[in-house]
Amino acid sequence: MASDKILVSKLSGKLNHVSAISTTPFNDFCDRHAAIDGTTCNVCYARRYLSTFRKHAVPAYIRNTNILSTREVTEDDFEPNSFFIGQHVRLLAYGELINDTMFKNFCKIAEMFPYITATMWTKRIDIINPLLHLAPKNLRLIYSTLMIDPDDAIATTIPKGFSGIFNVYSNRYAIDHAIDINCSGSCATCLKCYTQNGFVINELVKEKWGNESRRYTDVKSVQNGVCL
Ligand code: SF4
Repeated sequence: MASDKILVSKLSGKLNHVSAISTTPFNDFCDRHAAIDGTTCNVCYARRYLSTFRKHAVPAYIRNTNILSTREVTEDDFEPNSFFIGQHVRLLAYGELINDTMFKNFCKIAEMFPYITATMWTKRIDIINPLLHLAPKNLRLIYSTLMIDPDDAIATTIPKGFSGIFNVYSNRYAIDHAIDINCSGSCATCLKCYTQNGFVINELVKEKWGNESRRYTDVKSVQNGVCL
């Protein structure tokens, strides 16, 4: 019988101390922005993967979305031992906040499991701002900028109450503007987003079919191999 619980995805290998709660990226907000050239949504790897070789994950992410966006969650919505002490939990690894209820539920999840550190990547400051007072200390917020190659003013302005800001650059722009690409894509050995405050993270746009090692080659060679 299919589970009626919220799926907490266990990441494997070196990332086994990080788990994730995802929702579907096929929602009104994501659909609208994915249709606009130059946005990160327009090249969203989550939408690409879930349309192809990760299609099997879509029903569980739709179930997560339906639960999280329509009613208050309780501990019964999780399998026993979904979380352990000291665990990092990535919220919205796939997907985006779609309403107030979903944000309140992520706040409640962090409160119900005070021994985890939850980190949410989101563009929805419109939802979060009026509810910021609800965020417990173990819920970290990272603002994802909307446009690829944001100008400096946008790329360095961390919204109030957020731990950091996450920007995405094209190779060409990063080289031409000497952008410090400081996201290696290797979260397991980095964990900056999960542990630090007041930071600006710059990542290279993911290639269409994600050749992760090749992605950084040009910029690394220009920046003398520095990709921290
Ligand atoms: S900066 Fe580090 S923790 Fe953040 S996404 Fe990049 S590799 Fe992962």
